[in-house]
Amino acid sequence: MRRKLVAGNWKMNGSLQANRILLEEVKSKLQVNNCEVVVCPPAPYLQQCQAILAGTAIGWGAQDISMHAAGAFTGEVSAEMLRDFDCSYVIVGHSERRSYHAEHDEQVAKKVVRALANRLTPIVCVGETLPHREAGMTAEIVSAQIEAVLGQISPEQVADIIVAYEPVWAIGTGKTATPEMAQEIHALLRRKIAEKNAGAAASVRILYGGSVKPDNAEELFFMPDIDGGLIGGASLKANEFLAIIHAV
Ligand code: PGA
Repeated sequence: MRRKLVAGNWKMNGSLQANRILLEEVKSKLQVNNCEVVVCPPAPYLQQCQAILAGTAIGWGAQDISMHAAGAFTGEVSAEMLRDFDCSYVIVGHSERRSYHAEHDEQVAKKVVRALANRLTPIVCVGETLPHREAGMTAEIVSAQIEAVLGQISPEQVADIIVAYEPVWAIGTGKTATPEMAQEIHALLRRKIAEKNAGAAASVRILYGGSVKPDNAEELFFMPDIDGGLIGGASLKANEFLAIIHAV
């Protein structure tokens, strides 16, 4: 039985004051259910999240890491630095990193390797663009994206990753994949994972992301291979984030 996970991707939003208000409200109104909750703030706020969330049921993680261990890489944040702030998770290969920072499958795979080596759970994002979907290439694209990562990790490590299927055309657009569309790709991803480690495929969590809102979360999370969500815009509003968590 896979435990559901709802992770908030704050992207480049927040301030010390706004974060405090948001986190305090989520903390105080969170009802205990069988859902794991994680927030991923911009890197400068990880220490604040650590201070506010340590000892609570809410975990925290980063939105990206460097594929390098240390050294002359101006502007980058290493996996080891994230461990200093007790991060448990890191989003890797988000489509905004892929499109605005030209991150390719090979770099994404290296980041996953780096995360795992530092006991961070990577949330590996895959997803097709609208032209890809319209050209009938969705399965091909997401298969290549996940295989690039699976090819660089050991069968045992497969159990330590989380996958997020985020169709690019659904991110921040208000257009969500239907539960059936998402389920089809989640099932495909699980089959790909099973080719590498059949046992792990049953336990690896595959999140859906892309305009998840309180009013569509329940039907998405109800699907057999959808194990929770990676939430952008709605994770910035305590009431919406909580409603999504409580939809589990
Ligand atoms: P959204 O973003 O929920 O605002 O569509 C999701 C994501 O990019 O992770």
